[in-house]
Amino acid sequence: MLYGYANNLIYINLSTGNVEKRKIKEHVAIQYFGGAGLAAYLYLAEFDINSEPFNPKTPIIFTTGPFTGTKVPSSGRHSVAFRSPLTGIWGEADVGGTFGDILKRNKVDGIVVYGSSKIPVYIIISEGNVQIKNASHLWGKDTYETYEILNKEVGNIEVGKVENKISAMVIGQAGENLVRFASIMTDGKHGRALGRCGMGAVMGSKNLKAIVTLIKKSRKKDGKTEIKIPIAYPNKLIESIRKVVPDIVKASSRFRKYGTAGSFKRNMEIGDVPVKNWISGRWLEGGESLNGKNMVEIAKKGNFYCAKCPIGCGGVAETESPYGKIIGPIPEYESISMLGANCYIDDMFAVMKANEMCNRFGLDTISTGSVIAFAMEAYEKGYFNNLESNIEIEWGDANAVLKLIKMIAFREKIGDLLAEGVRIASEKLGNNSKEFAIHCKGLELPAHDPRTFSSLALGYATGNRGGCHLQALSHVMERSFTIPELGLDNVLDKYSTEGKAEMVVKMQNYMAILDSLKICKFLIFYEASPKKILEWLNLITDWNLDFNEFLKVGERIYNLKRIFNCSLGMTRKDDNLPSRVLTYRKDDDDMFGNIIDLDKLLNDYYEVRGWDENGVPTKEKLEELDLSEFYKFIL
Ligand code: SF4
Repeated sequence: MLYGYANNLIYINLSTGNVEKRKIKEHVAIQYFGGAGLAAYLYLAEFDINSEPFNPKTPIIFTTGPFTGTKVPSSGRHSVAFRSPLTGIWGEADVGGTFGDILKRNKVDGIVVYGSSKIPVYIIISEGNVQIKNASHLWGKDTYETYEILNKEVGNIEVGKVENKISAMVIGQAGENLVRFASIMTDGKHGRALGRCGMGAVMGSKNLKAIVTLIKKSRKKDGKTEIKIPIAYPNKLIESIRKVVPDIVKASSRFRKYGTAGSFKRNMEIGDVPVKNWISGRWLEGGESLNGKNMVEIAKKGNFYCAKCPIGCGGVAETESPYGKIIGPIPEYESISMLGANCYIDDMFAVMKANEMCNRFGLDTISTGSVIAFAMEAYEKGYFNNLESNIEIEWGDANAVLKLIKMIAFREKIGDLLAEGVRIASEKLGNNSKEFAIHCKGLELPAHDPRTFSSLALGYATGNRGGCHLQALSHVMERSFTIPELGLDNVLDKYSTEGKAEMVVKMQNYMAILDSLKICKFLIFYEASPKKILEWLNLITDWNLDFNEFLKVGERIYNLKRIFNCSLGMTRKDDNLPSRVLTYRKDDDDMFGNIIDLDKLLNDYYEVRGWDENGVPTKEKLEELDLSEFYKFIL
């Protein structure tokens, strides 16, 4: 008995319509857990890494983890893994909402989609069964509209009453048009985003508009509202969870009220927010006018809770504005920063509208804000004129931002260039535009400045999906946070390089574990220590892993994704950052003046990792991690 799993992976070949169910081998579950770890294993073991992102043979893999579908707090999550059309390397993302939870309760651990349909289709998964349906009537519609239609079609909605509860992953026009940073959105206006690396375009390349899963109302009538996941010690698990949930609820009250938007003003004050395409890091007026707390006070109509989450950090927005009605999630901190401050926009309503448009079209807000700021700087420098763009693209012009979002989603005029992401756009634009294309390995940087928290430089440079703050989440440990159980019991100097390699490695490994068990990373700030999480895992699975074995899984997963990238030719030269984020800012003063010694950080990092000086995992390291079977990829 594989406790914690439905033991059912569904493989769908969209070229042939063939559907196959496969079991998960127990040793694979123990070594990679689920989520992103399991997806990495399946990809390397079963598919051709060299197959290009839009090649029909290339898979896109959706996975839940052993926590999904259980009562573990904040476990209603799932992963997507793919080869990124934006970066060309390993791509992954993680999301909350309800899809993963409902999928697992439908007796499915994961969906592996490959091939490509001749016509637009969507997939329905219900109680382990799969239907592939014509989606021609959905093609061209945005994510909100698509979800509403699916809700009626699949949920059999009656007048004001849903018969079956559905959850859907949907692409918008951006995914259909192969925008390289297209997202997948869940559940329409109440949705969450699988945001980074362009998985929406991979779905679009397969003519796959949506995947729907549902809980049938008939099960409720029968009193069988849940298909239970087998759990080894269900009573002990509930007892353990009950001990911590009240404390989590109490400690998270401020986060529940303001969400990540609540940190914007403070982050601006400490120089963490990029301003004007990372030229600056201090714009106090902008910090005031875009203050996320004000946004919440004005627009928030309620909280959004991902499945099984006692925190509920999501905000449901509904408000009138000069840009028309705004409806959908309150923008997250990253979206406010990238669509607002980074484009020098200080109009709160414009940022909320831009956020809604990105969600509707299915665009990653971080990459969209970054590529628009890149366009504004290129325009300022005279690299293209208003004839090419058909609009003027001045810093701080909210209407230009809203127009550009649409032009990117539909690849119109200058939007066609920007839809490629900043790296390819700068290569095509030429001149010295590479100097201000802010990305790492092709992934536009998120809104945290490495000059303010030096561990970010290392986390971005070595992130398996490119420039990402979530794969290490180390900068919180340069502010006020510690995790003593991981040996991270001191808040390190935020400017110094000392101790950062060890800290980043430990955090990357630990984040890989959370991404594979499927539990929200925000839970680390509350009563859910690594040992508590291991306790839950053992109570669910009966594996009886000790703490070192548990941590080794994270290291194994991190190395496996590195193998994926190294096999595509990635080495130390790619573990780099744009010079703009490694040099002084225009507004440097004593507080902000910091230059990162990336070479030193990388030398320390490779040593801690046990990789060679080029950043390639050694044979000995792979043997130690039981990854020898994958050594052939980097020989
Ligand atoms: S803390 Fe927020 S993002 Fe995380 S699971 Fe809960 S509601 Fe979702």
